[in-house]
Parts: sequence; structure tokens; C-alpha cells
Amino acid sequence: MSTTSAATRYDVERVRRDFPILDRQVNGKPLVYLDNAASTQKPTAVIEAVRDYYATHNANIHRGVHRLSQEATAAFEAARATMARFVGAEQSEEIIFTRGTTESINLVAFSYGRANVKAGDEIVVTEMEHHSNIIPWQLLCEQVGAVLKPAPIDDTGDLILDELESLLTERTKIVAVGHVSNALGTINPIARIAEMAHAVGAVLVVDGAQATPHATVDVRALGADFYACSGHKMYGPTGIGVLYGRRELLDAMPPYQGGGEMIRTVSFEGSTWAEVPHKFEAGTPNIAGAIGLAAAADYLESLGREAIAAHELDLMAYGTAHLEAIPGVHMIGTAREKTAVLSFVFESAHPHDIGTILDNEGVAVRTGHHCAQPVMKHFGVPATARASLGVYNTHEEIDALVAAMGKVRELFA
Ligand code: PMP
Repeated sequence: MSTTSAATRYDVERVRRDFPILDRQVNGKPLVYLDNAASTQKPTAVIEAVRDYYATHNANIHRGVHRLSQEATAAFEAARATMARFVGAEQSEEIIFTRGTTESINLVAFSYGRANVKAGDEIVVTEMEHHSNIIPWQLLCEQVGAVLKPAPIDDTGDLILDELESLLTERTKIVAVGHVSNALGTINPIARIAEMAHAVGAVLVVDGAQATPHATVDVRALGADFYACSGHKMYGPTGIGVLYGRRELLDAMPPYQGGGEMIRTVSFEGSTWAEVPHKFEAGTPNIAGAIGLAAAADYLESLGREAIAAHELDLMAYGTAHLEAIPGVHMIGTAREKTAVLSFVFESAHPHDIGTILDNEGVAVRTGHHCAQPVMKHFGVPATARASLGVYNTHEEIDALVAAMGKVRELFA
């Protein structure tokens, strides 16, 4: 069934054995987990890395001279180096550990943004953004008197690049774009958008939450000034993520939060800040999370990021063809460049009913607005059902989704 040689080489049954949760039954049926865009399952390598940290090395980092603290510090900083390599950063210092994509974008908005965006300036986003790449900018605009401008999408879910370009002027200070849309699967042409943003002197912030699990990311080749991602969407733990920032930008930015770890000196007359990345990591970080995230990055690299992309594209094409063939199903998001997301509506059933019926069959999909209400407005729907693919999904699981949609038709058509 696979259409590419990379997908043929990819041994999905071997990959599935790495994920203990896939042995579960749901409602008496084998679990078919198709909610990967919301959160992915964890391979044994990640679970073990977290367990091993707590079982054998656990201590607070950076401050201790004792052995465990040194081991924990070394493991945390090694995780930073792994993530730098994983996203193509030039230096480890350009990697800041955060709680996830949401916190990463908020960090840029409130540190870089408040220092560089003034009344009358503009921030450009797109109509397909996740709320976490809209709201921080809206808050910043309210605080400093700047204006937020959305670039439109067309009816396939593609960004209209000419329209984006025509929004960019010397007033534009920040362009903030998702690499891959969680609601539509659209892959945006980030390198091209970076050129456009840089041509007017703006910085480019990329929401990479849905890109790191599926494709190779190279922040320098993309031209991203900032790049945000979340551990839990790329087979790592929850509560951990990364902000990549170009060193010279990070060096010039004020702290985002104050507290321990981020200072050089403290006195009541005035304090000074630690070097990056520590300037942006106030308080005790999620040490186990960072170690688990690095294990996830290593795991993805061991599968081969191009092989993963080919496998998922193959599954997406198969799923699209079979879902489209069901009378009454309408796909939302058919961009030329897309990955891993099958968003759809069914003429006579609300997506929430679809989700419940599919769950009865053991098939986990997400239904709702996917934190992308402007996308729903564009397509004139309140919600969609979304099956999103991951490294362990199979053609048989797509068949199970399609068969479960047959039950939906029986009840609603
Ligand atoms: N951006 C996109 C495109 C997403 O899909 C998500 C999660 N659904 C986020 C941002 C927010 O990620 P997190 O909740 O991990 O901060």
C-alpha cells in the first residue's frame, strides 16, 4: 500500500512495539489513537529516560557542588545541546526551555515585543494560527497600542502569500506564523515568509508545535528568528518545550520572568542578569521534562525524520482518499503542501457526535474548533472532526476510522 520507497522501508510494526500504551483496549476494541496533533503517545525510550533521571540522578541543577546536582546539571545541559542539534541552532545557548509552545510565544511577545513594539507598529499573523499564536500578540498590541493584522487563507487552507506580503510595511515589527497548521495540516513556506519579513526589517516568529513531530526542522535554513515547539507533541513529556531564538536577539532582550537562576547579582539598588539562556529560565526548570524531551528527539532521529514524513504522507493520502469516498464527508483543509491532519465534517452529524461514536469503536479523534476559531469561521463551520497521524499509525487504523464512520452514517445519514 505504501507509495514511496522510504515508506516501504519504514517498519511501523517495530515502531508500535516502542509504545506500551498501544496495547490498550478502549471500549473492548484495540485503541486506534488518531489524536496526535493534540498530544502524542510516549515511547519506552522517553518513559525510561524520565524514570532513570528520578531513580538515579535527581537533584536541583546549577547550584549544587554535590555529585547528584552535577549529574543532573550535565544531563539537563546535554538535553539543551540535543535540542539545539534537533532544530538546527548554531549554539546551545539559543535554546531556552519553557513549558511549551504557548509559553515560548508569550516569552517572545512580552520580552522582545515590549522592548521593540511601540504604538502604531504592526504585528502580522495568519488566519490559520492556533490561539496561542494570536492571543499573546493581541495582549501585546493592547498594552503598547500596536495593531494586529491577519493574513488571509484561501478555501483550500493555503496562505495567500501575496496578501501576506502586501500587509508588510516598515511599521511591521513582528511576523508570527505557524509552520504547520494544527486544524488544517497546511505546511507554510517559512523560508519565503522569512525573506518577506526580513525585507521590511521585521523578525519572524515560527510556531513549530505541529512541525517538529513530522518533518526535519532547520531554523537557520528556514530563516526563523524565533522558533517554538512543545515536547508532548513530539513524543516527549508534557510541561516542557523549547524556544529557539537567534543569539543576538536573545542577548538584547530583557528578562521575561524574575527569580532564582536568572540573575548574576542581586541588590536592592538594582540587579544584573545571567547570560542567555539562563536569563530566561527563572526558577527550577522541568529537569526531567527536558531530559525526556531530548530522549524523544533522539528517538525521532533514530526512526529517521524523512522516513517519518514519508510514512505520514503516505497514510494521509490513503486516509484522504478513503474519507472523501464516504458520501456526506467533506474535507476541511486540502492545501497543496500539507501533512498528517485529516480534518472533516459530515453533513448530518455534529463533530462531537462523530467523536463519541468513533470512541465507542476505540477510535480516538479530536472534535471541536482546535483552538483555531478564525479557521472555523473561514470555513463556516462551528467545529470539525480531526484525525491526526503519528509515527505509529497504520493503514489498518485508517480502515478502522473509515469503518467507524460507517456507523456514523448508519445513525445519521
Ligand atoms: N500551536 C499549535 C499549532 C498547536 O497545535 C498547539 C497545541 N494544540 C499549540 C500551539 C500550543 O501548544 P502547547 O499547548 O503545547 O503550548
